[in-house]
Amino acid sequence: MTDSPQTALLGLDRPEISHLIEEMGEPSYRNQQLLEAVYRQRVAEIDQISTLPQQFRATLAEKRIVVGVPTIQRKFVSQDGTVRYLIAFPDGQSVETVWMPEGDGGEAGDGSEAGELAERLAEVEDQKPNYRPRQGQNQGRSTICISSQVGCAVDCQFCLTALLGVKRNLSAGEIVGQVCAVLKDQNVSPPEDRINLVFMGMGEPFLNYDNFVKAARLLVEEVGIAERRMTVSTAGIVPRIYDFAAERVRPKLAISLNASNDALRTRLMPLNKKWNLEMLMAAAKAYPLRTREWVTFEYVLLGGVNDRPDNAKEVAELLRGVRCKVNLIALNPGPGIDFTTPGAERVAAFQNILRQAGIPAFLRRPRGRDIYAACGQLKRTVEIATVPPA
Ligand code: SAH
Repeated sequence: MTDSPQTALLGLDRPEISHLIEEMGEPSYRNQQLLEAVYRQRVAEIDQISTLPQQFRATLAEKRIVVGVPTIQRKFVSQDGTVRYLIAFPDGQSVETVWMPEGDGGEAGDGSEAGELAERLAEVEDQKPNYRPRQGQNQGRSTICISSQVGCAVDCQFCLTALLGVKRNLSAGEIVGQVCAVLKDQNVSPPEDRINLVFMGMGEPFLNYDNFVKAARLLVEEVGIAERRMTVSTAGIVPRIYDFAAERVRPKLAISLNASNDALRTRLMPLNKKWNLEMLMAAAKAYPLRTREWVTFEYVLLGGVNDRPDNAKEVAELLRGVRCKVNLIALNPGPGIDFTTPGAERVAAFQNILRQAGIPAFLRRPRGRDIYAACGQLKRTVEIATVPPA
């Protein structure tokens, strides 16, 4: 006997579940029960939904309707408390999802002064030789970094995920499922626990646009993570930046800039041939910002390549007139990546030039570099448990 395909509840929204329930001739309050169980209690199996009568559970099983939470296949824990999860889907594909117990140093929180100060204190803390995360503290600024595709098609030259190519898009349920699996494993629950979310894992969210948007809505409306605590990062898929501007649910926007002129950007990020800096900056300038919102530009510093004072001056020129901040990330190294990580002085010099030009510029702390969990290091690495500290 061949099994008919399963339907996962995870990924379905209120109208879709309502439709399913109507079809089965069940009362409409079952909609709320299922939504609560799947997105708030985050049950693993229909059988765990104790509010449902036995008969209804049996009907769901008959119709091959399942919850559909992905499985945590591997878990790597960094010295700094960061956890890298390898999360698997029924077709055998997997992605990585990262838990950062004290925020990610750049996108965490609401960007308030207090947040920035906490960030700077955390940086100082990081430099102490025996730094250990303080368990039980700072629970207020944990961040989950989620993936939107298996692999990535954008081919940025400094990113390990690019080496995978793109295998497939994730469904909305698979995007939300990563969050549900991690919240459960960490035993935390929004909105009581303050959770920040960044769409900065594997893949390009704006090349899986509809599923990303649906996932963001479900995360806000059903899982209960505040919209202002979410940030999506794009390599610069310009038409989708305009689309995104019109969305009803809209996480904060980050743009991976990574170069100060077209020649350099095309070399580092081939997509710049299609959407160059002029097009990108026009979209950023037209982007409708809400109160106390700014566009974040990410800039990966590559030693001797894009980290010169002249590059910093060009960046300042490019960003003139945009309400923005810059997150600087010193390259996280990886096998097969032919760039070097610039020294702290060079990074500081770059930051200073931006600040002197009136642009708020912050350093992103590398998180979980020792377990390949940092930006640009997500490649489903299971063979390497630890790497030497940079
Ligand atoms: N595709 C999206 C989101 C994933 S990348 C995007 O490009 O924005 C998330 C961030 O990590 C991007 O800003 C990217 O420039 C940065 N990044 C990629 N590889 C890196 C590396 N090796 N070291 C440091 N940052 C890296």
